[in-house]
Amino acid sequence: MIKYLSTRDNTHTITSSQAIINGLAEDGGLYIPENLEDLKLDYHEVIQQDYPGMAETVFGKFFSDFDEETIEKVVSRSYTGKFSTEEITPLTKVEDAFVLELYHGPTCAFKDVALSALPNLMVESMRMNDFQDEILILTATSGDTGSAALHGFSDVPGTKIIVFYPEGGVSETQRLQMVTQDGKNTCAVAVRGNFDDAQSGVKKLFREIPKPCDGVSLSSANSINIGRLVPQVVYYFSAYRQLLDMGEIQDGDKVNFVVPTGNFGDIMAGYFAREMGLPVGRLVCASNSNDVLREFLETGHYNRKRDFHKTTSPSMDILISSNLERLIYTIAGQDAQRDVELMTQLKEKGVYEITAEMKEGLKDFVGGFATEEEVKETIHDTYQKTGYVMDTHTAVAAHVCAQYRKDTKDEKKCL
Ligand SMILES: *Cc1c(COP(=O)(O)O)cnc(C)c1O
Repeated sequence: MIKYLSTRDNTHTITSSQAIINGLAEDGGLYIPENLEDLKLDYHEVIQQDYPGMAETVFGKFFSDFDEETIEKVVSRSYTGKFSTEEITPLTKVEDAFVLELYHGPTCAFKDVALSALPNLMVESMRMNDFQDEILILTATSGDTGSAALHGFSDVPGTKIIVFYPEGGVSETQRLQMVTQDGKNTCAVAVRGNFDDAQSGVKKLFREIPKPCDGVSLSSANSINIGRLVPQVVYYFSAYRQLLDMGEIQDGDKVNFVVPTGNFGDIMAGYFAREMGLPVGRLVCASNSNDVLREFLETGHYNRKRDFHKTTSPSMDILISSNLERLIYTIAGQDAQRDVELMTQLKEKGVYEITAEMKEGLKDFVGGFATEEEVKETIHDTYQKTGYVMDTHTAVAAHVCAQYRKDTKDEKKCL
């Protein structure tokens, strides 16, 4: 059975269902499987199935305290009839690269893929642990998470949800999606500040409110929750299978994933997919002008003391990338003490630097970024050449993908 531990205290383990209920560990750390080695499988077992089948296999690996029947129920409730395509996450060829379309869910946000599953995982986790408290989900959002989470948790028994969004920092469509969401248990709050302020506020509530408190337990729908991250692992397998089906790759070929990145959740899911055995070459982390991660991946120096840019890709306007902590812990050789030191430095001084040895663990990651001008050009040029309309976040990745290929002459398929 796969057990979970906190990146800040690896002396005790809990089950996956407990990790899903808790969201964030009490010590402020993120939950991660005790041993990534235990996730290994033959990727053919996954890719010879349809999307729900792939989801069942991947969930079954990560959430090994769920029985088979429960996993089937979760997957079916999460995806049957919820997405506008049978493929759930269809792959489209655009020029010489590929776009994995993650926007076919109920709120048109890519986060629907994960947030359709999380509420079902949460309900089953509560049942399995005979959990009597009500769960209050607190979530910071720059737009996409808020709409998708409110929709996902709307009227889910035993839960309530409050999302906090930066005032003026989300699109009008998403603001409206949030403030008009149906459901007796949903609430959206505007915060004066940016996304990082909203996220820091939520993290502070987690630290300061005791658990449980008057029959209510706090949890999170951000990608800090492992139940939110694992559903994202599935579409890396789906992308690989679709490339095979299209005849674009031979079985076993490695492919590069260029991931539009903010909180480092999506790309971390790609890292998990690779750890499970999917033939992944490079994981290219694409940032907008808030390129704190590009700098970190190049230099090993994380520095959040820099100007915050409001861009046209708000879901990536982030200077404190929460999920990076899971990677930091892993490349530190699962050294929770080291992780605590670095995260304390980040909090107190705004900077930290990793050792040369840890940097070695980053060698399959590459960072790149796109300026606002480059994003516009990419959307324009792609449309002119192919008629394909790209959103701003995708355009960041498309630009970084083209740049990466030009710089490295790496010919592997890129999506
Ligand atoms: C959330 C989001 C991202 C960033 O994903 P992370 O997992 O936070 O790195 C990128 N693009 C879109 C459209 C998003 O909604």
